[in-house]
Amino acid sequence: MRPPSPDRPTALVTGANRGLGLETCNQLHAQGLRIILTSRDPKEGIAASRKLDPEGKDVLYHQLDVTDRGSILSLAKDLPGLAPRLDVLVNNAGIGSWGSDLRKSVHTIETNYVGSRNVTDALLPFLPDGGRVVNVSSGLGELSYLGRELRSRFADPSLTRPELDSLVSSYRSALEAGKGKADGWPSAYSVSKIALNAHTRILARELLPRRISVNAVCPGWVRTDMGGPGASRSVPVGARSIVLAATILGDATGDFYRDGKRIPW
Ligand code: NDP
Repeated sequence: MRPPSPDRPTALVTGANRGLGLETCNQLHAQGLRIILTSRDPKEGIAASRKLDPEGKDVLYHQLDVTDRGSILSLAKDLPGLAPRLDVLVNNAGIGSWGSDLRKSVHTIETNYVGSRNVTDALLPFLPDGGRVVNVSSGLGELSYLGRELRSRFADPSLTRPELDSLVSSYRSALEAGKGKADGWPSAYSVSKIALNAHTRILARELLPRRISVNAVCPGWVRTDMGGPGASRSVPVGARSIVLAATILGDATGDFYRDGKRIPW
């Protein structure tokens, strides 16, 4: 392996073997960034990274299952051998669950919210001052999907991490009691993205002294495996929205974007 060059910005993307994650790697690579493409299945991830960079010089690969703490730790341990620092972290990995299946709902929260949060926390030591974190969220993560009381609790600008976790636990309890809807909760997917957006604001606040920007982004409804063939946007157009959030927002932090423009949360 060639020693990492110190002056080249590096971006790491989760869930990047297919869909929006892969295309985000493609577009960031085209802009000259060194890429660390990650996926839970190494075979798929290595094949995807070789497609973008057959020589494996600028698109590097590492395994990462965002729900597996051992996998996250192993990435954090190996990262210094891949790049001198991490300028951009894109938390893209995600799954969808819109029904009432308890196991799937819990897994959706664990992947989309807890997984993104744990990956960010583990990789923060590698982000330089001025670095960027982009959380791939969704329009379905808008606060308007919540009942009125829950909405005001999530929207509280002074919400803390423990308070957010307690809100997410209360969603889980409501699900277990079979009264998620009655208590004002939307689908697990929406809850996971609402929690991710809330965490985006908390983290942005925490990282202000280091000028690390943390923003959430909606790619629009995109024709991936998740979005389905009837979705309105192509994969390159959806990924462009993510890339804009990763590259052109200046000092903006703690906000929600689509196509480079702030949208209401
Ligand atoms: P895809 O289903 O095409 O891709 C999802 C990616 O996430 C896959 O690479 C998948 O890996 C990976 N993934 C799932 N679970 C894990 C895990 N535990 N650890 C690591 N990787 C994991 O979906 P999209 O490309 O459409 O979605 C990307 C992001 O965009 C998601 O966060 C999604 O919520 C968001 N989004 C998508 C929209 C759309 O219309 N498509 C709309 C709004 C938001 P594997 O191949 O191993 O399953």
